[in-house]
Amino acid sequence: MTQAGGHEENVGLPETPAQRRTSRTLRRRAVFLDRDGTLIVDRHYLKDAAQLELLPDVANAVRAFNYSLVPVIVASNQSGIARGLLTEDDYRRQRERLDDLLEERSAFVDDHYHCPHLPEITGPCECRKPDIGMFEQAIVEHQLDAAASFFIGDKLRDVLPAQRYGGRGMLVTSASTPREDVEAAQAAGFEVVSSLTEAAALALGLSHIPEL
Ligand SMILES: [Mg+2]
Ligand SMILES: [Zn+2]
Repeated sequence: MTQAGGHEENVGLPETPAQRRTSRTLRRRAVFLDRDGTLIVDRHYLKDAAQLELLPDVANAVRAFNYSLVPVIVASNQSGIARGLLTEDDYRRQRERLDDLLEERSAFVDDHYHCPHLPEITGPCECRKPDIGMFEQAIVEHQLDAAASFFIGDKLRDVLPAQRYGGRGMLVTSASTPREDVEAAQAAGFEVVSSLTEAAALALGLSHIPEL
């Protein structure tokens, strides 16, 4: 089976500025996770942290990455901030609650990145997915091997960065995944799975993901 973004097929890809700035000996593969609709219930411009709710079994998937020493990086488009629907403070409280909920289940995120922009309101930015600004920042800050990393989310824009880096993109379908995203992901050779647990098992080569 061919996989777009498969490591071997993209040997000729030019490295990005962030990749060039990482140590070849220290860089580690990571998993880049979307947040809304992938880790937590997508409430569309969530404001109140108290309403943040983990999707079923995601803590098991995150813990499996933790145990495998694969850094877990959250990269989230938060255009609700540009739209004035939530503030940076709201988002920070949500991040803390997400960390707390995962910690209760012995899982953790290594770092969080978000894009607060929306081009129509705040002008163009380099961080809004499918652009790679958040990934570039994480790669440098954590010395990550993007070409060996996993890019997982419920929208096509979450997995597209895998193509730029030669990494592995996995679309996790949910109620919020547009049909055309599924078709485009399949056409591009990305893996399409039905849960984060399934993605984690594939990524880590495990037959099943242990529960707590
Ligand atoms: Mg999402
Ligand atoms: Zn941005």
